[in-house]
Amino acid sequence: MAEINNFIKTIMESDLESGRVDTIATRFPPEPTAYLHIGHARAIITNFELAKCFNGTTNLRFDDTNPVKEDQKFIDAIIEDLKWLGYTPTNIFFGSDYFEKTYEKAVLLIKKGLAYVDDSTAEEMSKMRGTLTTPGVNSPCRNRSVEENLRLFEEMREGKYADGEKTLRAKIDMAHPNMNMRDPAMYRIMHVTHHRQGNKWCIYPMYDFAHPLQDSIEGITHSLCSLEFDNHRILYDWFVENCEMEHTPHQYEFGRLNITNTIMSKRYIKQLVDSKKVSGYDDPRMPTLVGIKRRGITPVALKNFILGAGLSRVNSTIDDSQLDECLREDQKMKAIRPNAIVHPLKVIITNYPEGQIEYLDCPNNAENEALGTRKIAFGRECYIEEDDFIEEKPNKKWKRLAKDVEVRFMHAYFVKCNEVIKDENGNIIEIHCTYDPETKSGSGFEGRKPNGNIHFVEATTALPAEFRLFEPLLLDETEENKDLDFMERLNPNSWQQFEGFVEASLADTVPGTHYQFVRNGYYVTDKDSREGHLVFNRTCELKSSFKVQK
Ligand code: ATP
Ligand code: MG
Repeated sequence: MAEINNFIKTIMESDLESGRVDTIATRFPPEPTAYLHIGHARAIITNFELAKCFNGTTNLRFDDTNPVKEDQKFIDAIIEDLKWLGYTPTNIFFGSDYFEKTYEKAVLLIKKGLAYVDDSTAEEMSKMRGTLTTPGVNSPCRNRSVEENLRLFEEMREGKYADGEKTLRAKIDMAHPNMNMRDPAMYRIMHVTHHRQGNKWCIYPMYDFAHPLQDSIEGITHSLCSLEFDNHRILYDWFVENCEMEHTPHQYEFGRLNITNTIMSKRYIKQLVDSKKVSGYDDPRMPTLVGIKRRGITPVALKNFILGAGLSRVNSTIDDSQLDECLREDQKMKAIRPNAIVHPLKVIITNYPEGQIEYLDCPNNAENEALGTRKIAFGRECYIEEDDFIEEKPNKKWKRLAKDVEVRFMHAYFVKCNEVIKDENGNIIEIHCTYDPETKSGSGFEGRKPNGNIHFVEATTALPAEFRLFEPLLLDETEENKDLDFMERLNPNSWQQFEGFVEASLADTVPGTHYQFVRNGYYVTDKDSREGHLVFNRTCELKSSFKVQK
C-alpha cells in the first residue's frame, strides 16, 4: 500500500517535536444519516493512516446531535464500512453522549456573560446578522441579565417553549468580519425523539458548539475536516477557550475529493435510491462504499486511490478511471483467471469423439505461478465469444477465428473453422471446426503459427452465468446537457446484463470473490449469485479506456 504523506503529517511531526502534543489523537465524525461514499473514504483513510504513522488513536464518533434523520441502520452500515476498510476505531462514541456536559458548558458561558437567550425568530435573526459588507444589528435580547438567561435556558430544557420560540446564542460580536462570529446559535429547541436519548432532551446543540467540545472531551489533538469549515475555525477556537476545556484540539482543513461523472452528496445518493433509479444504496454503480464494494473494488485499491490522489488544501477532482487502475494493480497478481464467455457462440469440433471430455492443465494466473494450476474441460462442444469469430478474415490484423482460419484454444488445441451454420435470417447459430490432436496444450507447433489465441469453455460442463456490465451513472457533461439536473443526465446504458457461461471450476464461487476473466476484465461474484444461476459484476475492463482529452 502507498504511504501517507501530506501537509497534515508535517504539522503533526512538528507538533510532536515542539511539545504542543505528546501523542496523536484523531477522529472520524460522520453523521449517521446516510451511507458513506468515496469522499468520506478520504476523511477516514486520512485520519486512520495519519494516527497509525505516530502510533496514535482514532475514534469513530457519530455526530448525532441533529436528531431528525438519524437511524440505527446507518450506524451499523458505517461500522461495517470501517471494518471493510480494515480499520478498528480506538473507541466508538456518540456526540449525544456528551449532551449533559455540553449543557454544563453552555451554562458556564451564560454565567460568564458570553451567551444569552434570544426570543427572535429565525427570520429576524437572519435579518439582524448583516452581510459580508455590512455589520449585523444587536438583538433586543442581547443584554439580558445572567440570572434571566440562566432561568430561560433552564426553562428551554424543561420544555416550556415551542420549537423556534427561543434560541441560546453565543455573545461575541455582531460586527465581526467573519459572519460565523456574529452571535452564532448554540442551542435550538426541537421537540423530537432522539434515537439514543429518547425524549430526555428538547434542546439540541448546534454543530459549531458541540463539535469542538466533543473533540476536547475525547482529547483529540488534530481535528481534521473538509475545507468548507475553514471559516468556522475561529469559532471552534473561541468555544474551546471560553468553555475552559481541559484539552485544546486544533482544527485543520483539507480539500474535498470529487470524482468525474460522479456526484457525491447524501442528497443525490438518496434521491437516486428513493426514485428507484438504482437498486439500492449498494447498487454497484453507486459511489457509496457499499456500492463500490459490490462492484468489486477492494479496500487496498480504494486506499491506494485515496493516497495516490494526495491531500492538499484545495478541493480536487480525480478521473473515475483512476480507481479502476488501482483495482487492476491490486488484483493483477492475486486474482485467479478463469474462462468466461459473456456472448456465447457455439463451436462444434466435428472430429472430436461424441460424449468424450478431457481435462487440461491451466495456470490459475499466467503471471503468478504461485497460484497453481487447475483443470479445464475440452470436448466436442465449446463456447467462444461471438466477437472472437468473423466469417471472412478481414485483414492481417484479425488475430482471432474466421472461416478457414486456425487459432489456438488457450491451453487446449489448435482449432480450425470449416463451416458456418446460419438460420433462415442469415444469423450465425453455430460454427463447425476441427481440432488437431497433435497440438495438445496449444504448445507451439513447428512451422504452423495459429492466427491468435482465444479462450473458450466446454459447453456440457459449463455453468450458466449472468454478467452485469456497468458504465458511469451519469453521462459526460456536454455543452447541451451541462445545465440539466443530474437526474436528467442519467446514462441509460449504465447497467447491462448478459447471459453466458463460466467454466465448471466456479461452481462454488461465493459473493465477494474477485476474478480476472481471461481476455475480458475484472469481475466479482455478486450477492445475487446462486447455485445454478451465478452472477458476476464487472468491476472494470482489463485495460484502461481512459483517453486523454485533447
Ligand atoms: P455530504 O456532502 O455527502 O453530505 P458531509 O460532509 O455532510 O457529506 P459527514 O457525515 O458530515 O458528511 O462527513 C463526515 C466527514 O467526511 C467530514 O469530516 C467531512 O468533511 C468528510 N467528507 C465528506 N465528504 C467528503 C469529500 N467529498 N471529500 C473529503 N471529505 C469528505
Ligand atoms: Mg456534514
